[in-house]
Amino acid sequence: MQTELIQIEENSIESSAAKVQLRRAGQILRSGGLVAFPTETVYGLGGDALNPESSRRIYAAKGRPSDNPLIVHIAEMEALPLLVREVPEAAGKLAQAFWPGPLTMILHRSAAVPLETTGGLETVAVRFPSNRIAQALIREAGGYVAAPSANRSGRPSPTLARYCMEDLDGRVEMVIDGGEVGIGVESTIVDLTGETPVILRPGFVTQEDLRRVLGEVEMDRAIISEDSGQAPKAPGMKYRHYAPRGTLTIVEGERDKVVAYINGQTKEAAAAGRKTGVLCTDETRGLYRADCVRSAGSGTDEAGVARALFRILREFDEEEAQVMFSESFPESGVGQAVMNRLIKAAGHRVKEV
Ligand code: AMP
Ligand code: MG
Repeated sequence: MQTELIQIEENSIESSAAKVQLRRAGQILRSGGLVAFPTETVYGLGGDALNPESSRRIYAAKGRPSDNPLIVHIAEMEALPLLVREVPEAAGKLAQAFWPGPLTMILHRSAAVPLETTGGLETVAVRFPSNRIAQALIREAGGYVAAPSANRSGRPSPTLARYCMEDLDGRVEMVIDGGEVGIGVESTIVDLTGETPVILRPGFVTQEDLRRVLGEVEMDRAIISEDSGQAPKAPGMKYRHYAPRGTLTIVEGERDKVVAYINGQTKEAAAAGRKTGVLCTDETRGLYRADCVRSAGSGTDEAGVARALFRILREFDEEEAQVMFSESFPESGVGQAVMNRLIKAAGHRVKEV
C-alpha cells in the first residue's frame, strides 16, 4: 500500500486547500481505511470506531495485541451518549472541566461500539481532543474515530509525523503532518465505571486536577508500585512499551553521584565497543561523556521534558545507541506521566546510587 503524506497547519484548517484534504482524509476513514493524525498529546492512528473491520486493521497495522482496547475520539459532547450506556454525573463534570483536552474516560459501552474496538471489554474509552486538525478529521469521518498512538506496538509514541511514517509507511492510507505535538505524552485515563474514579494511566491532567472536580480519585495500584502484584486495569499498561532498541537504565540519586556513575558506565561500555547515550537536562548536559548526549530541556520544566521524551528515545535509535542512561525527573505535574513512561521504556531498570 502507498502511504500518502500530507501537510496541514492547525491554524489554517479553514483554508479551502485544508478543507479539501480533510474531506478526503475523512472519506478514507468512512470507507474503512486508516489515517494517522496529530492530536495535542501524541499522533493517533485513526480508523472508524464503529466499524469492526477498521479496528481489526488498526491492530494489524500497529502489530498490537487485540486485547489492548482503542480510545474512541469524538469532536463534540453530543457524540458521547451514543457510545455509552449512560453518562454518569462525574463524566459530565470532567467533560465540562477538561474537554476538549488530554483526558480519556472509561465508561460502560453501548451496543453501538463493536467489541473489536474495546478489545472485548464491556467498557469503552472516550476522549474529545483539543487539536483542531483532529477535530475536523473526526467530524469529516462521521464523528467517531478509534485512535491508539500511531507507533508500531512497543515503540515510543510519535510526537512528529515523520515518526508515524517510520513506523507505519506502507501500512496505512494516509499520514497527516500537523507539526510537533504540544504535550508529548498520552492522555490521562480515568475509569468511571467503579464506585470511586481511578486513574489507570497518568498524563497531563493530574490526580490533583481531577480531585478538584470530583473529590475522591484513586491511582491504580499497578501504576504506583510495579511490584504490587496487580495487573494494570488499562490492558495496554501491561505490555513492554515506549522502548528504544538498546538498553536504557534510569539512574537516581544525588546529582554528582548520578553523573559520576553514568560517566563510569558509558566509559566502560565505550571501551567494549558499544555506542552510548545519555538523557539528561540543560543543567547537566555539559557534564556527560557519551556518543549521544540529549537534554530534555530544563529539569524544572516538566512540560518541556514531556514534550521531548519520546523524541529523544527515538533519536537514540537513530544514532544506534546500544547502552543508554537517563537521569530521573521530578514527579510534580506532568512529571508523574514522564516517569511512568520512562520507567516502562527502561523495562523497569532503575539504579540507585
Ligand atoms: P493508546 O491509544 O495507544 O494510548 O492506548 C490506549 C490505552 O487505553 C491502552 O493503555 C488501553 O489499555 C487503554 N484503554 C482503552 N480502553 C480501555 C478500557 N475500556 N478499559 C481500560 N483501559 C482502556
Ligand atoms: Mg500507545
